[in-house]
Amino acid sequence: MIVKPKIRGFICTTAHPDGCRAIVKSQIDYVKSQNHAEGFKKVLVIGSSMGYGLASRITAAYSFGAATLGVIFDKPAGGSRTASAGWYNTAAFEEFAHADGLYAKTVNGDAYSKEIKDKVIEIIKNDLGKVDMVVYSLAAPRRTTADGTIYSSVLKTVGESYTNKTIDLKNNTVSDITVEPATEEEITATIKVMGGEDWQDWITALKAADAIEENAVTVAYSYIGPAITHPMYADGSIGKAKDHLFETAKAITNADDGIKAYISVNKALVTQSSAAIPIVPLYISILYKVMKEQGLHEGCIEQMCRLFNTKLTKTTAVTDEPCRIRMDDREMQDNVQNTVNKLWSEIATDNLDTHADLNGYHADFYKLFGFGADGIDYEQDVDIDRPIETV
Ligand code: NAD
Repeated sequence: MIVKPKIRGFICTTAHPDGCRAIVKSQIDYVKSQNHAEGFKKVLVIGSSMGYGLASRITAAYSFGAATLGVIFDKPAGGSRTASAGWYNTAAFEEFAHADGLYAKTVNGDAYSKEIKDKVIEIIKNDLGKVDMVVYSLAAPRRTTADGTIYSSVLKTVGESYTNKTIDLKNNTVSDITVEPATEEEITATIKVMGGEDWQDWITALKAADAIEENAVTVAYSYIGPAITHPMYADGSIGKAKDHLFETAKAITNADDGIKAYISVNKALVTQSSAAIPIVPLYISILYKVMKEQGLHEGCIEQMCRLFNTKLTKTTAVTDEPCRIRMDDREMQDNVQNTVNKLWSEIATDNLDTHADLNGYHADFYKLFGFGADGIDYEQDVDIDRPIETV
């Protein structure tokens, strides 16, 4: 099949298998080219098929030779429908890891469910004994709990509505958007989906099954960002969930059984989930421009490689005062934020070319789905069926 991008709303409904494979390969090559600290050896990555989770898995495997077990929620190809990008990324990662003699297995299913937790634990017990690192990198729109209740997360403000600039990426126009406040019920649901309850459930289940080392480390990801994004993010419904995630990290560590939990505050990047947040994509496209010009830009793989090799290693955890790891250190530098603020105050549809890196934003968005990778001929027929050693 010849696979072309088909954009619907904030996502692309097709994915290119060879493009995804090439992008995974380039991430592996990047990690191989970097210095390696003493890292974790048996790593469970929950949400390992895209974005920060995929980059965490690639870093663990190729910085430390770690055995990795991934949990994904992806679709294989069916008929003339391509698989999801996460499926192709995982198939490619497994192919490379196995060729390089690395243990890599993946469980495909709902990470929030008990069934998937049980499956993962069985594999750990059979194959690895115990894990020494758990990466929790889910970004999900909804969660079904054990009693069958479905909770949906929302990206809204808390308290008051907020008006600021946003970009319509379909036609590259800047306009004002007003984001309405979430109801109490929506905030509670967002915390259920994106807060720490399920992370805690994973750690509790792993401990109960004796499938996690006593001195293991677990990490989940958060975002803070500058003031213009706060009503939408840090102080919004998603921010409430992230506060809960942070409290969960403290609770896991305070259980005093040796397991340490951290929140890593990562840089804003184009991923499937960030593309859906109002205001944030415009901020990201300005940020890309400024950070690229200042030689500070990083993507998911550069962030995760720096995290696990310099800030969260087997022997160190570099944290700020409330005990968070700051991978957003470069994004939040004054020289970056002052320039972003100036550009933000001036930006409009007719100066997008000079004030933002829209090409970079769009290129990264297409790359999420395997389009625009170097060396791939997108006019060629490709086999859209790619196997994963899915259990
Ligand atoms: P992403 O959309 O790229 O990846 C999310 C992953 O979660 C995918 O692999 C997806 O398949 C998986 N997933 C979703 N629902 C699942 C389910 N029910 N069961 C199993 N797997 C499931 O997202 P991302 O941007 O990499 O986000 C990961 C984390 O990083 C989130 O906590 C996010 O808030 C945080 N973060 C993101 C940014 C950013 O700018 N993108 C910045 C800082 C922090």
